[in-house]
Amino acid sequence: MALEDMRSPIESGCPDGFQYMHPAMRKNFGQWKYHEHPRPGVLLHVAHSGDEIWTVKCATQRILDVFSLRTLMDIGDKFADGYIRFTLRSNIEYMVTKEAQVEPLIKAIEDAGFMVGGTANSVAMMSHTQGWLHCDIPGTDASGVVKAMMDELIDDFKECNMPNRVHITTSCCQINCGGQGDIAINVQHTKPPRINHDLVANVCERPTVVARCPVAAIRPAMVNGRPSLEVDEKKCICCGACFPPCPPMQINDPENSKLAIWVGGNHSNARSKPSFQKLVAAGIPNNPPRWPEATAIVKRILKEYKEGAKDWERINDWIDRIGWPRFFEVTGLPFTKYHIDNWRGARNSLNASTHIRF
Ligand code: SF4
Ligand code: SF4
Repeated sequence: MALEDMRSPIESGCPDGFQYMHPAMRKNFGQWKYHEHPRPGVLLHVAHSGDEIWTVKCATQRILDVFSLRTLMDIGDKFADGYIRFTLRSNIEYMVTKEAQVEPLIKAIEDAGFMVGGTANSVAMMSHTQGWLHCDIPGTDASGVVKAMMDELIDDFKECNMPNRVHITTSCCQINCGGQGDIAINVQHTKPPRINHDLVANVCERPTVVARCPVAAIRPAMVNGRPSLEVDEKKCICCGACFPPCPPMQINDPENSKLAIWVGGNHSNARSKPSFQKLVAAGIPNNPPRWPEATAIVKRILKEYKEGAKDWERINDWIDRIGWPRFFEVTGLPFTKYHIDNWRGARNSLNASTHIRF
């Protein structure tokens, strides 16, 4: 095909967000004077021009069905100004320019079965990753864990009664996108992968799989006269990284894939370095549909944090102040061998500052 006959590529990607913004936001972009938090779930921003914008935050289930989406859009058309935006934590935010619009909007949201909250010192909507819908490596159904836990934490979402903001995340695998929060619920595989040798030669690129292992536990091997792989089970840390490039290395298991809870993660900011999460509970049963064991641990941690932390302390600040021994004491969580990090490949401080290093 001649070059001139070839179709030019369609560039896709993130569209310009300005076209979707509420006109009052576009007009006052970068010109805000101050903001207030008049009630849980509502923010008021006041611009130098005198314009006001009231934002109402409403939780959604993240993976939205068409019916729910239409319901939420109808509310936006009828009670807000026809503009919405989604936050990183799957909340939908409606913007209105008059205070009188706020109460009818909240009533319409709640009448439709959705919750308003998640601002300031509340437990924000839990974030979770794509899971079964978009990804090939989930070890659990993160959406189910979120639903079960948020049902129990709903009062902490609707009211601002925590010492500071609490971000909770779930991650449906052990290695990738979840886990940036004050509390993270992640999968924990507890046994090495079981290899289906008949499929490896047809499905997997063996060098890629060998390269994925962080502890060099995978070696190429001939099994029954066919090229395959073998795992040194003494070295394997059961991370699951070999499963995405090689599904025949089956690591998911209803009995041996557990949940683990990590706490104290926080991003760096102008005043402090990032704080890394620490494992505080391991081997929790991955127990759908309500995950009662994991939920009970999260609630216990939140209870102690709420009672013990000073105003403005995030979970990592609270633990830094009281110390890890005291944390395990007050939460009643057992300290086990899983809490000792002896992974020899770990660097001492990882990338613990915002400064660029080469
Ligand atoms: S957490 Fe893991 S399994 Fe879940 S979407 Fe991200 S990469 Fe995929
Ligand atoms: S589970 Fe992780 S440590 Fe074990 S063989 Fe696979 S990549 Fe290596």
